[in-house]
Amino acid sequence: MVEERLLEPGLNAADGPIEEGLRPHQLVNYVGQKKAVDNLKVFITAACGRAEALDHLLLYGPPGLGKTTLSRIVAAEMGAQIRGTSGPAITRPGDLAAILTNLQPHDVLFIDEIHRLNRAVEEILYPALEDFKLDIIIGQGPAARSISLELPPFTLVGATTRVGLLSSPLRDRFGIVMRLEFYQVGELAKIILRSAGIFKIEVDSEGAFEIARRSRGTPRIANRLLKRVRDFAQVDGHAMVSQAIAAQALENLEIDERGFDNLDRLYMDAIINKFNGGPVGIETLAAVLNEESDTLEDVCEPFLLQAGFLARTPRGRVVTRSALEYFA
Ligand code: ADP
Repeated sequence: MVEERLLEPGLNAADGPIEEGLRPHQLVNYVGQKKAVDNLKVFITAACGRAEALDHLLLYGPPGLGKTTLSRIVAAEMGAQIRGTSGPAITRPGDLAAILTNLQPHDVLFIDEIHRLNRAVEEILYPALEDFKLDIIIGQGPAARSISLELPPFTLVGATTRVGLLSSPLRDRFGIVMRLEFYQVGELAKIILRSAGIFKIEVDSEGAFEIARRSRGTPRIANRLLKRVRDFAQVDGHAMVSQAIAAQALENLEIDERGFDNLDRLYMDAIINKFNGGPVGIETLAAVLNEESDTLEDVCEPFLLQAGFLARTPRGRVVTRSALEYFA
């Protein structure tokens, strides 16, 4: 049945059980993103007070910043169930219709990578979001007829790394739009110490800060680096991850003191040395680096942009003076 294929109870099952175990389940344990969290608290309290479903919510920002985690927390705080799927998994309008008609009142429907929904599916979504109605066509040819089904009030939580790729009719149907920001080093250190507790790894505060500094403002990366540092500490026979051990392990992984890795260096090297500092188009860069342009745009560029090393211009990517100093 369609339901079983599309709706992973484990949400983002690809993340694996370990990442699942690290997800905070309540707003109080969700570190950082203060502005978004404070506003959400108000919206959730107000919706609960009116015994209504929360307005549809769009979360956007680079991968690993906590969009999936936040969607689950929103459902838990609303006392609602969450059903999860993703844009590319819903290929036909019928798939979405099956998901929508199985929702219970006030359920949260989480659609990851919502910018990848196809047009035909999106069109089913508009009346569902606006009026909780599903307009479907049954049968084909002259016997086809259109019927309209009532849906229970529900909340769509959409997540995307590329808000710019969302069509404007879809974007306009979200009552709440929130951008997740890169995390501060102190926030990441807090997440690392919490994860270390769950993994039963001994990490001192300086060790946690060292990992945090190299985590590109991203909790998923912080957790991943913690696991790799643990491997080095274990094999070298250290019971506690200190600053020196963390720094050495991350040097071995070729992650520098600001979190830049090999791909960043290759990317910057290509613009600086092959294209004279830019401007150069993303597709050209992707071809030169033999990488998907999506990977560069989602993973590599947001952090370089926010570090002030890269600028996007209508003619392509350009490096900044500070990038020349740092990557020279
Ligand atoms: P996204 O959906 O934006 O790609 P996820 O929600 O899957 O990111 O988060 C990736 C991992 O980072 C999760 O396993 C979670 O443990 C951790 N994480 C994300 N945000 C936070 C946060 N604010 N506090 C604590 N852990 C977080």
